[in-house]
Amino acid sequence: MHVREFFCLWYNCFMAIKGKKYIVGNWKMNPQTKDEAKSIARSLKKIAANSKKVEVIVCPPHVYLQTVAGALGDAPVALGVQNLSEEEKGSFTGETSALMARDFGVKYAIIGHSERRKMGETSALVAKKVAQALTQKITPIICIGEAERDTHGAFLAELKQQFTESLATVSKEQLKSIIVAYEPVWAIGKSEKEAMQPHQIHEMTIFIRKIAGEKYGQENAATFPILYGGSVGGSTGPVILNEGNVNGLLIGRQSLTEEFGTIVTYASTI
Ligand code: PEP
Repeated sequence: MHVREFFCLWYNCFMAIKGKKYIVGNWKMNPQTKDEAKSIARSLKKIAANSKKVEVIVCPPHVYLQTVAGALGDAPVALGVQNLSEEEKGSFTGETSALMARDFGVKYAIIGHSERRKMGETSALVAKKVAQALTQKITPIICIGEAERDTHGAFLAELKQQFTESLATVSKEQLKSIIVAYEPVWAIGKSEKEAMQPHQIHEMTIFIRKIAGEKYGQENAATFPILYGGSVGGSTGPVILNEGNVNGLLIGRQSLTEEFGTIVTYASTI
């Protein structure tokens, strides 16, 4: 790497971590009743009222969107979905289109989550869904992450391939309208102490900006936020926000608990 490229990369990483933080709650297929959904949304409303410089995003199951939106009222919390169809409209049973989501007021869509990739979703399919989201001005939160670590660095090649293929439909100009969530699969759904270490997350954000630079030019590599996801909770979240070089967090199970509020509150102080 040339000296100029190195400084460009360093500067990009520095610029990228300044600015607002994104705290995203992925409720997955939870909770089990709409009353519970309403009660979690009400707590979120109270927390978000005092959150500054933080974009709080909640991604409930589709059937709870109405309930959650109603409970949030005018709270500064954006609605997201956990998946979208790659098709525009028509005979696709069980699917939800980007247009429908947009019409409801959805602003973000998690796309390519590892739990969906496990169901057979490929990066090529992810790229089509990303294109649908962008067409409807929904910000895609594109998930990438290696399945496991090895000592030879094969996981880096895996990540690079996922990044390149999942963003195949994203132009240089559209980079500022996407979010990348780095979620190593081996760190998802574990105990909080098994979340990835902040210094490792920091390294991976540099790697992601480097591969973004190779595809889009280093001067564009800092135009999108990078989030970390994987077993984040109330004690790891603040440390990762401080030391992980990330623009925010994608939180699964703990987004249904009070720990989400702890993280949102902390994020608004930095
Ligand atoms: C996720 O589902 O994106 C996730 C990070 O899950 P958890 O926080 O539960 O590991």
